[in-house]
Amino acid sequence: MDSDLGPQGVETVCEVCEVELDRISEVAQLTDQDLELLRQPRRRINANIPVRMDDGSVDVFPSFRIQYNSARGPTKGGIRFHPGVNEDEVDELAFLMTLKCAVVDIPFGGAKGGVQVDPDDLSPGEIERLSRAYVREYHDTIGPHSDIPAPDVNTNAQIMAWMRDEYERIEGRHAPGAITGKPPELDGSEGRDSATSLGGAEILDAFAERVGIDSTETDVAIQGFGNVGSHLAAFLDERGYNVVAISNAAGGVSNESGLPIHEILDGYETEHDLFTVDAEEISNEQLLTMDVDVLIPAAIEDQINGSNMTEIQADAIVEMANGPTTPKADAYLSEQGVPVVPDILANAGGVTVSYFEWVQNTSNEYWSKDRVQKKLRKQMRMAFESIAERKTETQNEWTWREAAYSRAVDAVLTAETFRSNIPGGTDQ
Ligand code: GLU
Repeated sequence: MDSDLGPQGVETVCEVCEVELDRISEVAQLTDQDLELLRQPRRRINANIPVRMDDGSVDVFPSFRIQYNSARGPTKGGIRFHPGVNEDEVDELAFLMTLKCAVVDIPFGGAKGGVQVDPDDLSPGEIERLSRAYVREYHDTIGPHSDIPAPDVNTNAQIMAWMRDEYERIEGRHAPGAITGKPPELDGSEGRDSATSLGGAEILDAFAERVGIDSTETDVAIQGFGNVGSHLAAFLDERGYNVVAISNAAGGVSNESGLPIHEILDGYETEHDLFTVDAEEISNEQLLTMDVDVLIPAAIEDQINGSNMTEIQADAIVEMANGPTTPKADAYLSEQGVPVVPDILANAGGVTVSYFEWVQNTSNEYWSKDRVQKKLRKQMRMAFESIAERKTETQNEWTWREAAYSRAVDAVLTAETFRSNIPGGTDQ
């Protein structure tokens, strides 16, 4: 087994925070005190949640909520339902949320939650009971001005609606801003479901403009056809990119002259099957190593790792999943001169529209989809430009990830300093 892989074939994730922070501290010269502040989450909470199953038995599900840093605002981040969820993973994801909110300059800190469960094994009623039970366990620590959950892997607007309802039942009052990613019919924001993907498409456009590539001559492969991958494929297709390969957990399809994305999307809604069109069937591993202009991992962590990094042929990578490239693979790709646009920039569109949703909820406003999307595109462009500027300042010596991390870490540390809650700060 490759040395950067843990027991289940994935890197142990706290190590990822550690490695990334060490790397950024070298380029951005962080002090030991800075590192001390960023290395550990502020608060870790966990609970084994009992849920009544349809057959009358009770199953117990391990769960977590990790509030990493709140210097810039209430902590913010999704809740995932996945069999691989563990504390280290949630730690890393909460750390990434802290940086992500800082990169797009929204006034939130970072958090993440998760339940160790395979939702495919649960009925809709069991998922509802689990979602409500999660809120009962963590109710004391979440809220519109403390910690605001949202969807993540395998959770969606319906689950957010149940969670919000449970939160309000306990509170005994209306509190829509406690959870984002709700259905638009129940105080959710227009455009939230496709926001991560629209943000990613905007970042890819900005990147293409900067490096001088034309969308119509750009072949793209997308790994993952969940909420993010499927909306992204549609946006990129509309913008003229040639989407040559897509995949889901069962495998993928490719066609070098471009896939009929809209036809696939129509069929996928009912059948949940990618293999209905006339295209070559490929595995996920084959997709990752295709010779394309842009590879977009949009599924889960650690997909580009020590065991496949030398086979990556893409000219550039845009990370739409959280943490899809391990630090070892990232260092290798950087040596090879392959630009990697990092998750904390590329997939920040989701949390940006979560922020817009929270603003609407806390001010009782409702914005049109057009308004939400215009504001999102602008926010993503601003974030891209500020990171591109950092790269330029270093004569492009910093990678995209280093530039993004350094911007985010600066913003978090500046907020910490103004709060004077660091050792040595004046406390008057
Ligand atoms: N789960 C999304 C992410 O990883 C969105 C989080 C949010 O909207 O709070 O960025």
